[in-house]
Amino acid sequence: MSLIPYARQHITEEDIAAVVNVLKSDWLTQGPVIEQFEKEVAAYCGAKYAVAVSNATAALHIACLAAGLGKGDTLWTSPNTFVASANCGLYCQAKVDFVDIDRQTYNLSPAAFQAKMAEAVKKNKVPKVLIPVHFSGQSCDMKPLWEEAKKHDLTIIEDASHAIGGSYRQHKVGSCRYSDMTVFSFHPVKIITSGEGGMVTTNREDLYKKLLLLRSHGITRAPEVMTQEPDGPWYYEQLILGWNYRMTELQAALGLSQLAKIDSFIERRRYLVKRYETLLKDVPVMLPFQNPEAASAHHLYVIRLDRTKITKSKAAIFEELKKRGVAANLHYIPVHTQPYYRRLGFDWGDFPEAEEYYLEAVSLPMYYGLTDQEQEYVANVMKEVVR
Ligand SMILES: *Cc1c(COP(=O)(O)O)cnc(C)c1O
Repeated sequence: MSLIPYARQHITEEDIAAVVNVLKSDWLTQGPVIEQFEKEVAAYCGAKYAVAVSNATAALHIACLAAGLGKGDTLWTSPNTFVASANCGLYCQAKVDFVDIDRQTYNLSPAAFQAKMAEAVKKNKVPKVLIPVHFSGQSCDMKPLWEEAKKHDLTIIEDASHAIGGSYRQHKVGSCRYSDMTVFSFHPVKIITSGEGGMVTTNREDLYKKLLLLRSHGITRAPEVMTQEPDGPWYYEQLILGWNYRMTELQAALGLSQLAKIDSFIERRRYLVKRYETLLKDVPVMLPFQNPEAASAHHLYVIRLDRTKITKSKAAIFEELKKRGVAANLHYIPVHTQPYYRRLGFDWGDFPEAEEYYLEAVSLPMYYGLTDQEQEYVANVMKEVVR
């Protein structure tokens, strides 16, 4: 029996044909398909600009650089995230700190943020960048964060790696209605994939221009931003220090083809969420909260074990699930408890909500191709295993 994974890609014949077409074309990188992919993601989200890059980690890095994050600055994010949301701050030589999560949404808590900001203002140590993470595909409560950020010189970068296709207060995630920039990931486990891939959306032209430079060595071929007249058609200028974070045309073709199907992908995920609610009704677990203000893209389906009713250890539960063919997963080990971050001075006990959550969380299979029968099987196995 093959394992039922927690997530996987769904690739169609059209996706394959789109990639093959690129292979037969003149451009394998820096061509027209990337521009088209950017244009369509921006239009889908309702943002003015989009910049495609090699992965979301690179997207977070250049978004931080575009925000001016550097030595002596501080970045805040959620401890309940993939390490990349915090590492991007360290790439910029900035300090990283965390804001504990909300007990209901598992997103960065606006109340904890307000309290931490009040302290930071008193000490004159307001962070430069805040990265709220739309955990499991459900938007963070962005409005209070944005209103507070506007009172300070604080740039908000949404880590929407889980959340393309979701919305918040009738605005699509990525519209940057309540932020400066939004980052998406197109890794195979996410909502749509380009193999590896990432994107930054923004409505600010100044950030857009910086992002374009940072993506490709800091080099420009646009005469209007050059420091001198081009002395020939070969001429280009490096204006700042950038990276090679470019996406290939192959990746863009796959991403673009996947984007055309995003609404049906999310529809299916929504259907699976509804079904889990019925199938897991009598299991002593807490089902994920569905915020009516934030339609989730349903990247992850995370349940919490009721430890007053379940005596088995979580490790034993994971082992038994695996023995029966269900490869559950755990999102996330609180970032501040990673050995690397503990060496920076963090420790267990620093962010108790994220730590409490970690003791109880299980990500069950959630992806487009999960069949009804497989889902029933997963629910039945879960029922037996926690008994
Ligand atoms: C997947 C993920 C990333 C990193 O995405 P890559 O495209 O793999 O670099 C960053 N943040 C979160 C929350 C993620 O889930």
